[in-house]
Amino acid sequence: MPNAQPRYRGRFAPSPTGPLHFGSLVAALGSYLDARAHAGEWLVRIEDLDPPREAPGAATEILRTLESLGLQWDGTVLRQSERGDAYRAALEELERKGATYPCACTRREIGDSALAGIDGGLVYPGTCRSGPPPGRATRATRVRVDAAVIEFDDAVQGRVRQQLATDVGDFVLRRADGLFAYQLAVVVDDAAQGITDVVRGADLLDSTPRQILLQRLLGVPTPRYLHLPVAINAAGEKLSKQTLAPPIDRARPGAVLLMALEFLGQRPEPGLVDGSPAELLAIAIARWDRTSIPRARAVRARD
Ligand SMILES: [Zn+2]
Repeated sequence: MPNAQPRYRGRFAPSPTGPLHFGSLVAALGSYLDARAHAGEWLVRIEDLDPPREAPGAATEILRTLESLGLQWDGTVLRQSERGDAYRAALEELERKGATYPCACTRREIGDSALAGIDGGLVYPGTCRSGPPPGRATRATRVRVDAAVIEFDDAVQGRVRQQLATDVGDFVLRRADGLFAYQLAVVVDDAAQGITDVVRGADLLDSTPRQILLQRLLGVPTPRYLHLPVAINAAGEKLSKQTLAPPIDRARPGAVLLMALEFLGQRPEPGLVDGSPAELLAIAIARWDRTSIPRARAVRARD
């Protein structure tokens, strides 16, 4: 059973949209090494919140790949698909506090009047902030960001500052299709799992201020954050299933781990490529150096 009050508890939280690729392996390895180097716990959470985007069997496949690389997690794997009651309770708490409102706008209506936000999304113009237009059915639930300015210090990316009203706008907590939004689920789960340190890819850096706002509204602790460089291919695209990133070769765990260590700016010993994943990880934990992690990094696509 996990320690009740750990000094460090980290997590890896993949979405099961396909097999583990190099980009998600970097997040898995970085969060694992940072946790173990701090004598901390490392949990795994499957973010299967969005059934239409999932690939059948992908969650099992991801867990097998982690095991084959020697990345053994603590406790049981949490699955977001089983957490609807917790998300509902959190949303109701925010509703009771007057922090949310129902929104009747369609994507098209928002697209016609909204400005572009910080991460390519649209800044909601606030149409329904004092009630949806008469006769319109509500579709989504949004949280009021008001004048919140969120600042935090990321261990690799440095100081991050966002003015939510102009960078993001009132964002969705429950979507028109009834699904809970990622931002709400991740905050509820990090709090429920007692996560003290979030180590993940910098593609989520722009989401962090939204999560900190929700943590404050729900009265739960804000973890420390470390955003790892994102792996991009030669075309400058983030490696993902969409950009056809090759899945991890489970037959060559040493070579795969060494490549990810190099990506993270660590100095692994090349002679270890033939060693077991456990040997390689033990050395990587001992030599883990946060200050060597680059802020951004490109990889050549392998063919
Ligand atoms: Zn609206």
